[in-house]
Amino acid sequence: MISVVVPVYNEEKNLLPLMDRLEKALRKAGQTYEIIYVDDGSRDNSLEVLKGFIGRDGVRVLELTRNYGQHSAIISGFSVVRGDIVITIDADLQNPPEEIPAIVRTMEEGSFEVVGTVREMRKDSILRKIPSRIVNAMTRRITGIRMRDWGCMLRGYRREVVDRMVESQEYSTFIPALATLYAKRMTEIPVGHEERHAGVSNYNMWKLMNLQFDLLTSFSEFPLRVLLYMGTAMAVLGIAFGALLVVMRIFYGAAWAENGIFTLFAVLFFFVGALFFALGIMGQYIGRIYHEVRKRPRFTIRKLHER
Ligand code: UDP
Ligand code: MG
Repeated sequence: MISVVVPVYNEEKNLLPLMDRLEKALRKAGQTYEIIYVDDGSRDNSLEVLKGFIGRDGVRVLELTRNYGQHSAIISGFSVVRGDIVITIDADLQNPPEEIPAIVRTMEEGSFEVVGTVREMRKDSILRKIPSRIVNAMTRRITGIRMRDWGCMLRGYRREVVDRMVESQEYSTFIPALATLYAKRMTEIPVGHEERHAGVSNYNMWKLMNLQFDLLTSFSEFPLRVLLYMGTAMAVLGIAFGALLVVMRIFYGAAWAENGIFTLFAVLFFFVGALFFALGIMGQYIGRIYHEVRKRPRFTIRKLHER
């Protein structure tokens, strides 16, 4: 059985064409299927439209109590899946549903646990593509997995991987990276990409940056190590600089040292700046620890609507 999980946040105009195309594509795949729409606290009519789908084959609608963000919405969908293969797809039709059979086929033929996708001819603005490149390079480094496109959420996972992700209880999650912790056989296939069907993107620069920071701090201690290196380097430099000042004073006398007073200020500012930087990064980790110990739910389900 194939389970498709679709996070939905204010997508009322996209849902009807999405439903039709999903249904067609899944029938073509020739297996039983379910489609789990997760209403992530939409403020428009999305939930009503989704409830209208409930009579149709395999449709289940998971209603969250408020907006939790795309990744938490998907995890909540994961928590109720029944299929052996789980596909995630965006609701705005940027990912063509017609690619689903190819993902399923790849997964079964190569017995892969995770099948990612690479967006060919990506239809997004340059302002989205450049940050994507940085994210992709970083994610490759952090996870040590050579996948090319981490941002595309049209992906397939084996049920075991999905279950482990649900069990993991991580608060801030970036699903494609999280999956790499629980899977060995992973691959990527090329897929098409389209413009958003209707409505506007729910992500802005700010949200993307936050997602990126979550990814970095939840998957690596690299920033902490950078701090250590920088701290060490700066301490060494400071000592060297102090020694230099002493030597110069011996050779050129006190007058020279007085003129150097501004240099000292510069050094001071540099160190104070570095200190704040260090505190800021530590703050990020402490913030994460705080999140984890509070153990707030990642999502709360109001109701699962199904036939
Ligand atoms: N989404 C969601 N909750 C949110 C933001 C987005 O469930 O808080 C869903 C949204 O409905 C869509 C998918 O996540 O199905 C991707 O969002 P969007 O298309 O806005 O992002 P972009 O394609 O611009 O990265
Ligand atoms: Mg989109």
